[in-house]
Parts: sequence; structure tokens; C-alpha cells
Amino acid sequence: MSDMIYLDHAATTPLDARVLEAMLPYLTERHWNASSLYGPARGCRRAVEESREVAAAFLGARPSDIIFTSGGTESDNLALRGVLSAAPPEKRHLITTRIEHHAVLHTAQALELMGVRVTYLDPDRFGRVTAEQVESEIGHDTALISVMHGNNEVGSLQPIGVIGSLARSRRILFHVDAVQTAGQVPIRVREIPCDLLSLSGHKMYGPKGTGVLYRRTGLPVAEQMTGGDQEFGLRAGTENVAGIVGLAAAMELAHAELATTAASETRRLRDILIAGVLGQALDARLTGHPELRLPNHASFLFPGVEGESLLLNLDLRGICGSSGAACASGEIEPSHVLLAMGFSPADARGALRLTLGRGTTESQIRRTVAALGQIVPEVRGLATPA
Ligand SMILES: *Cc1c(COP(=O)(O)O)cnc(C)c1O
Repeated sequence: MSDMIYLDHAATTPLDARVLEAMLPYLTERHWNASSLYGPARGCRRAVEESREVAAAFLGARPSDIIFTSGGTESDNLALRGVLSAAPPEKRHLITTRIEHHAVLHTAQALELMGVRVTYLDPDRFGRVTAEQVESEIGHDTALISVMHGNNEVGSLQPIGVIGSLARSRRILFHVDAVQTAGQVPIRVREIPCDLLSLSGHKMYGPKGTGVLYRRTGLPVAEQMTGGDQEFGLRAGTENVAGIVGLAAAMELAHAELATTAASETRRLRDILIAGVLGQALDARLTGHPELRLPNHASFLFPGVEGESLLLNLDLRGICGSSGAACASGEIEPSHVLLAMGFSPADARGALRLTLGRGTTESQIRRTVAALGQIVPEVRGLATPA
């Protein structure tokens, strides 16, 4: 396993050893409930509140804007369900896109069953939507616009700054799923501007089962789980102190790394990967936008190739990739993102996503390019003719 090449950081990242170190005391001797009143427990409360300050600084927000959750999925659910159920009856319209993560898409579909009108914007062939598209769908009943920052399957970055300014000028709330961009590009909630924003710990070298919903203080959001009054009454349940401390440590590391050349080094390796794959006679095409994309993200289509056999053959060589979404790769269904971008179901089956991370080296990238040069012609020969 030592020379395993892990290129699936969009699915999950390893827990950074420094994050684990920060968490360990709260998994062992500091096991207290942060709401208890004795001295040691107050230490846990302090750790939670200091973590809230770190999360706020990471986003350029106020500590009271930060709600700790169990991950990106819960943050997306709380944003969409929370806003729509707190909105007045005449505001029952949600604008989102067809390329959102299922945490947003399936939540929007559930809201439709509850009488919410939902508009799903179609992306262009680069996997992007425009502010003009959003604007043309705004109605008197629009309560919320939800557009992701970086797409997990094709890496495209959305023009959230322009959409945020539009939403602000029309006095409509704006939610951003920034799970893929956190730690990759700086995120300042005032500059976007947005009212709600979702983050996930395990996509940024923090622990799984941790996340943040930034929600501008005072903005009406209805709690989605009833219970204790933790997290300003918006997220019931005993605080996951170790997880929260770990998430904050991950944010501090990400913040420090954003100030270094790490991102441009990742971008350089990604570009070697893209050029290496496209430069061989593999009939490959890049999916997503060529420039406006996540710095660690490369995604391709190989027409006439089954993505599954590509992944299996990469796996045999110790290379971990993905066909697109982590949760979709066990399925036969082609990606909803690629279909929305106009690719045929047959073409969408030949998808491959390779996402880089802190441990990725140039030699790993060169070995991956060489492996694809061998594997693609082999599996294309095996594919049943259409
Ligand atoms: C992974 C992911 C999520 C879900 O986050 P979890 O913490 O795994 O629940 C939501 N949105 C996007 C864009 C993601 O990539």
C-alpha cells in the first residue's frame, strides 16, 4: 500500500496528523459534556467557542454566524429546509442548479413534495450557470437561491460573486455549497456576498461527520432537529467536541496553506496531469471548465470506454480514482451533472475524475498518465460496440 496513488480527494481527504493530535485529548481524558457546569466541562465549552472563532475567522464571519453540524449534507439540509420552512407563505420558491450535489438536489426535490416551487438551472457545456439565468427566474415568491461554489464532479467554479450581488440587490437569500472549495480557494462570506454557506470537515483534512453552516446572524432559519438548544437553538444534540476541535484545526491548517505556494503547486501538477492525458492519442476530453475550475481537479470523458473498467484497472495498479461522485460510482446510472451538461448517457459512462491533494507528487502524476496510456486502449478494445 505504500506506493498507493490516492487521487480521490474530492471524495474524502485523509485526516491530517496535526488535526488528530488536536482531537485526541477530547476523545480521551476530556470527555466532558460541554454543557455541564463543573470546571473540566467548562474547558470543553471553551474549546467549542474557540473553534467557533477559528471557523468565523476562516470565513471572515462572526462567531455567532457559525453553526457546527455533522457535515456538508446536514449543512445543506439545514440551509434549504431551514430557510424555506421559516419563510412566509408567499415566499415558496427556490432557485438552484441541475449540477448541485445530491445533498442539495434531493433536498430540493423533497421540498417540492412539500409545496415549494423549485427552478433548476441548466449549466452550459462547461458546467457553469450565469447570473443572467438566475435573474430571469427570480419571482415575487423567490425565497432562496442555492448555487454551489466548486462542482465535485467536473470541478467547474460558479460565478457566485455575481450571483451573490444579484441576490443581495433583489433582497433574496443566497446559499453556497462550498464543500469542494474550502481550503482550495479563499472564501470570504462578505465578499461573495452570501447569507448561508456549507462546509465539510472531511473534504479539508478534518474528521468525517463534521461540518459548518455559516448563517448570517439573525437570519430566519428553522431548526430541523428538535432537542436541546445547542448551536443557538438551530442544531440540537450534545456537541461533538473532538470533531469541532478537529474541524477548527483543519481550518487553521487550510488557512495557513492558502498563504503558501501549495495551491499553485497543486495546480501545476493538475495541469501536467491534464496535458499528459489529453496529449496521448486516447480520444479523451476534459470535462468542466478548462480554467475556471478547482485547482486540484481533473475530470475526463473517454468515449467508448466503461468508466468502471477504467477504475478497476487503475485500482489494479494501485491508483485510486473515481467515475465522478463518490456515491454514484457504485451505480450504473450516468452522472446527473454530465447529463445536465448535454453529454449522452453513453458518453457519460466513460467519465474519470482524478483529484489531487497534499500528498500528491509529480512522480505519482507521471505514473498515472503512463498507466492511463496503457489502460484506455485495452479497455476500449473490450467495450461492446454501441
Ligand atoms: C461531499 C460533498 C457534500 C456532502 O458533505 P458530507 O460532509 O460528506 O455530508 C456536499 N456537497 C458537496 C459539493 C460535496 O462534495
